[in-house]
Amino acid sequence: MPDNSNQLDIHMFPCLSDNYGFLLHDKKYNLTATVDTPDVRAIENALAEKNWTLTHILNTHHHWDHAGGNLALKRKTDCMIVGPRADAARIPGIDIQVGEGDVFEFGDHLAHVHDTPGHTRGHIVYHFINDNVAFVGDTLFVMGCGRLFEGNAEQMWESLQKIMHWPDDTRIYCAHEYTQTNARFALTVEPQNQELIKRTTQVNQIRAKGLPTIPTTLGLEKKTNPFLRPMSTDLRKTLNMKSASDVEVFAKTRQLKDKF
Ligand SMILES: [Zn+2]
Repeated sequence: MPDNSNQLDIHMFPCLSDNYGFLLHDKKYNLTATVDTPDVRAIENALAEKNWTLTHILNTHHHWDHAGGNLALKRKTDCMIVGPRADAARIPGIDIQVGEGDVFEFGDHLAHVHDTPGHTRGHIVYHFINDNVAFVGDTLFVMGCGRLFEGNAEQMWESLQKIMHWPDDTRIYCAHEYTQTNARFALTVEPQNQELIKRTTQVNQIRAKGLPTIPTTLGLEKKTNPFLRPMSTDLRKTLNMKSASDVEVFAKTRQLKDKF
């Protein structure tokens, strides 16, 4: 039985120009995972600072700023690498392949895995249901979503809908700090969204202090993220797509953001 008193310790730190690194620690079993491997040096510094020893890498997708440090860290620590089954050939050093419906046991903490293709064809997200936290890589961002490099809008919309089923108070850790640009775009498509206007002001204040806007919550994203809101009448009015399907509105929003 999972021990609920054994809280999942999360340490977040900036990497590269706009990535975030995440260390997850299970005290009882003395396990430490890094979610993705954007920057080996930054991850090693964070491990030293916390006095934790790396035991796992949890990869979300194959991009170099997510899996590029896998082999260097594995060589130094002999850690176990968990990653998407659908993209195993492109995850360096992968040991354990996971996909939709799998549950990865990280000590007392159970990571429920979903396939979320769209940004890449083999992207996965990790939802720690009992801890109410999720690591979504480049699928969902604060007021944004990942670019469609290897998938289409139908796939990405389906992937985002899986996330939308989680509880509203789920704390969501996105892999990049793209929030201010995303907010500026969101305001162009939903200019009347009062929650969005309010949040943009808050986000600008947070960034002015150099602080992260992550984690977000699903509830907040549902109110302010245009990529989770194809049903919004304000958005549909801007796009002149009053009777289109949700996925058509989503696809158009994504196209506009690509050109923004
Ligand atoms: Zn990516």
